Amino acid sequence: MSLDWISTADRLKSLPPYVFARLDELKANARAEGVDLIDLGMGNPDGATPDPVIDAAIRALQDVKNHGYPPFEGTPNFRASITNWYERQYNVVLDPNGEALPLLGSKEGLTHLALAYINPGDLILVPSPAYPPHFRGPLIAGAEIYPMMLSAQNDWLIDLGAIPDEVADRAKIMYFNYPSNPTTATAPREFFEDVVKFAKKHEILLVHDQAYAELAFDGYKPTSLLEIPGAKDIGVEFHTLSKTYNMAGWRVGFVVGNRHVIQGLRTLKTNLDYGLFSAIQCAAETALQLPDRYVEEVRERYRSRRDFLIQGLGELGWTIPQPKATMYLWIPCSVGMDSTTFALSVLQKTGIVVTPGNAFGAGGEGYVRISLIADHNRMSEALNRLKNAGIRYDSPIVC
Ligand SMILES: *Cc1c(COP(=O)(O)O)cnc(C)c1O
Repeated sequence: MSLDWISTADRLKSLPPYVFARLDELKANARAEGVDLIDLGMGNPDGATPDPVIDAAIRALQDVKNHGYPPFEGTPNFRASITNWYERQYNVVLDPNGEALPLLGSKEGLTHLALAYINPGDLILVPSPAYPPHFRGPLIAGAEIYPMMLSAQNDWLIDLGAIPDEVADRAKIMYFNYPSNPTTATAPREFFEDVVKFAKKHEILLVHDQAYAELAFDGYKPTSLLEIPGAKDIGVEFHTLSKTYNMAGWRVGFVVGNRHVIQGLRTLKTNLDYGLFSAIQCAAETALQLPDRYVEEVRERYRSRRDFLIQGLGELGWTIPQPKATMYLWIPCSVGMDSTTFALSVLQKTGIVVTPGNAFGAGGEGYVRISLIADHNRMSEALNRLKNAGIRYDSPIVC
């Protein structure tokens, strides 16, 4: 029976078409033809979760007291390990009862925060390009989005001065993310200070996503929003264990910061979910207490891949500054090509999957994102394929 009398809600129709759809189709075709794909498209870490975390999870699984519904607001132990971690990292003291909330991955929290705080028609500031949930969450909530256009000239930093006063006064929330996915940009502490001043002046809730808090290289240490005096009055910060501890599949993250904002998110969530499986919270607690060498290893893995690929792409005409953080390279398409055409022709000619920059918003046009999720062997195979296909920065690809 046809279901043409029913259609999805308008909130789904408000979402822009998924740029990945065409790419997925081509990937599936290539696989069916037996092409050995090198998929550098997804931000999916290829490493294993550290053994002590797995061991903690196994022990917790075997304990019957973890088998029932977990507490809505997360276990007291996990919340305490979050605020202890936070104090160790940033020297900022937070109350585990109310200023920290575990999440089923930070994507869940980022999107639900939009549903908890945005009414249809509210104006929301989002960088372009941005991590898709930062605009897709608000769109689902019916927001009007003001894209803050980023550019290489401004080092992919948000230009607060370019936001008209009447826009700033109307805006309710600003989403932002440094170190940034997809641009790999980092923001100096002064930028965070400016953002807090700006938000206070215009009464804007700051939502900072610090997914790459620990994936930073060469001694660089990213700033946390809550390190800035007064930031807790107007902001929250999202963290995830997905990248730092190779735990993307476990679905665990958390939000810290303003207790009223966290309470609003919690109220929505008590109507949607029961929180994280307690065994996963035990594992996450262990992760946040791991000795530094575990994270050091993860960092070293991405750093060496970063250097290897930058060197190899350099030989093909690309000059890419070394990102100080994240697990990506953000590279300009070959001269004269747009993101989609470039990504599709790279896929067709080499079997390498990269993400077209426009998947992250119009501000990503002209760039592609490469994830550092393959080992040196696969990356050197990728570089060979690019070379043999004649794909260089300075010469447009002949399709
Ligand atoms: C990978 C990533 C996340 C992680 O989301 P989880 O749902 O916690 O796995 C969040 N924000 C950004 C910017 C990311 O790149």
